[in-house]
Formats: sequence, C-alpha cells, structure tokens
Amino acid sequence: MGALEHSLPENVLTTSVDRLVNWARRSSVWPMTFGLACCAIEMMAVGCAHYDLDRFGAGAFRATPRQSDLMIVAGTVTFKMAELIQRLYDQMPEPKYVIAMGACATGGGPYYHFGYHVVKGIDRVIPVDVYVPGCPPRPEALIDGIMALQAKIDRERVLRKKQETVVVGGAE
Ligand code: SF4
Repeated sequence: MGALEHSLPENVLTTSVDRLVNWARRSSVWPMTFGLACCAIEMMAVGCAHYDLDRFGAGAFRATPRQSDLMIVAGTVTFKMAELIQRLYDQMPEPKYVIAMGACATGGGPYYHFGYHVVKGIDRVIPVDVYVPGCPPRPEALIDGIMALQAKIDRERVLRKKQETVVVGGAE
C-alpha cells in the first residue's frame, strides 16, 4: 500500500478497500522459522500434515525475517536471546505481527520467580498481538491464536489513520 497507507482522514469511507486488503493479508500470513524451547515442538507439529496450517494460509514458514510477517515466539526467552529477537523483529517488513506462545513467552512461565536469566514476557521487548496460554499449548491452541490474529487483521484500517492498537488478550 506504500504511501497511501494510514494517509486519509477519519471522514473518508474506505470500507471495501480495507476489506480487500485485510482479506489478502489474513489469507497469507507467513510465520518465521524460529523456535526457542519446548513450545517450539508444538509449533512444528502445527506445520505438519496432521494439523495442516496451510488451511489458514499460514503454512509457509519462511527462513528469513525479511519474508515473514508473523513471529511466533515459542519458548523461553532468555536475556541473551531477547536482543536477537528484537533484531529479527526489526528486520521484518510492515505490517508485522507477533504471537507469544506459551507461559514462558507470555510472562516467564515456570521461570518467573527464580529464573534470573529469563525475560518475564516477550512483550517487554517487542509488541505482542496475541497471547496463547499453556505449558506447552497444544497445537490446537496455537491454531486458535492464529485465527484470533486473523480476526484482528480483519478489523484493521488500511487507508485511514490509525486510532488505537487493538490487543487480543489470548486464545479462548
Ligand atoms: S511454556 Fe512450558 S513448554 Fe513452553 S517453553 Fe516454557 S517450559 Fe517449555
């Protein structure tokens, strides 16, 4: 969308354009190939034939942040890794989205009290769109989180100026 994106004032109606662009974006969410700990095993299962993430247009895991628009933070975020996650996030093109998968990525998980080396939630480093609870979450829970993200993309305003950031509080 380039220069037109978020350029129009509030009183211009662009409903059909928004719906078309959002439909295209929600139907081709490409996650980055990237995992940190045990939760990543469940994330890999989602990409395999049994769960078939391609049904949601999100099965094309990319090997570079420059071709990805979804970062699934799956696993324990140590302080050493946090800096690298931030760098990967910065290399992703807009629009970009983040799912915090599991208790560790959401808030430190089992390391919350005594994990001196663990960041207590990836949202202290990068913005998070969807939180998926569990230790680890089942693959179905991650799929639910991806569907919640798609619902959020559907509500986005493409041409008109942004009013607020909507944060989905987690998979039901
Ligand atoms: S939330 Fe549980 S399963 Fe996931 S990375 Fe942390 S300890 Fe492992």
